[in-house]
Amino acid sequence: MSTFLLFSTSSCAQLLILILFLANHAQCHATSKQHHHYTYHNPKLPPPPTTNHTDTKYEDKGEFTSSKRFEGSSNLVDLKYHMGPVLSSPINIYLIWYGKWAPSQQLLIKDFLLSISTPHHQTIPSPSVSEWWHTVSYYTDQTGANISQSVLVVGEYSDTKYSHGKYLTRLTIQEVIISAVRTKPFPVDHKNGIYLILTSEDVSMQDYCRAVCGFHYFTFPSMVGYTLPYAWVGNSGKQCPEVCAYPFAVPGYMKDGPGALRPPNGDIGIDGMISVIAHELAEVSSNPLVNAWYAGEDPTAPTEIGDLCEGLYGSGGGGGYIGQIMKDRNGRSFNMNGRRGKKFLVQWIWSPVLKACAGPNALD
Ligand SMILES: [Zn+2]
Repeated sequence: MSTFLLFSTSSCAQLLILILFLANHAQCHATSKQHHHYTYHNPKLPPPPTTNHTDTKYEDKGEFTSSKRFEGSSNLVDLKYHMGPVLSSPINIYLIWYGKWAPSQQLLIKDFLLSISTPHHQTIPSPSVSEWWHTVSYYTDQTGANISQSVLVVGEYSDTKYSHGKYLTRLTIQEVIISAVRTKPFPVDHKNGIYLILTSEDVSMQDYCRAVCGFHYFTFPSMVGYTLPYAWVGNSGKQCPEVCAYPFAVPGYMKDGPGALRPPNGDIGIDGMISVIAHELAEVSSNPLVNAWYAGEDPTAPTEIGDLCEGLYGSGGGGGYIGQIMKDRNGRSFNMNGRRGKKFLVQWIWSPVLKACAGPNALD
């Protein structure tokens, strides 16, 4: 919110931003990376109308506006390191499937997660999911250790009986984690672990749709016995796709515009979820205990490395559009490749090197 004031009240700042943007633009041309074999298009869709992918425990303060997006380069983004840990050891994801899931949906989400660090013998064409994670891995802790480029799914737990109900809160989600870690072999892994809770489309969450599509935080020792970083993302396919699966669904008032994009895997809910999962993984890795990388003065409402680029998927997004992305021969939109020939549309991440949003499908 305060960053928006900088933009609107200071013409000097605006000029500075323009200069920085042009400088960055020129610099990027020198390291041009073209992907000639893909057809790019600019769908002329604005970023999502309601800010949605938010994080941490108490972020629903009505502060989530489009002012958090920075399409161009800016040194005025006050992203700072607050001396806490990042996930620098090889990352183990523990998946908790809450509710009823189709195996094909689970496989698609795992295809994305397992594309982050692909074994060397698998060649995935650029732009790829693992190239997207490179931006995340540029973040370091105070010892200089980078966020790990190794991300594995090491355990899965299914709660098909909705054992904590069909309405979850930010506290009861910790009970879901307790239930999972009490089963064997689903370990307590407070060194390398991320507990990723995914709820099916018939489960509602406190503030879901209205304020959040996903969030991350950590468990409390008083509740769970340990401090475990976790993230939650819900399937919005039925509840609010125009908010949480944007741009695969658009709000009614935008129906006269270019319309919704076709999801890369034909599933609005899951394809939309994957970008939210990506956002949360990037942020839980760079700010697992909410004391490492974030902008803003208030640690209860941090602006993190995904928030800064929310709704931005490609180059040329500076005019208030989502940017240049690709279409396959069936007209499905995507901006990166994953394993087993899968394609995904995933938002960009703030780069600490470029001081701008970055993604593997950058054209300039
Ligand atoms: Zn976020």
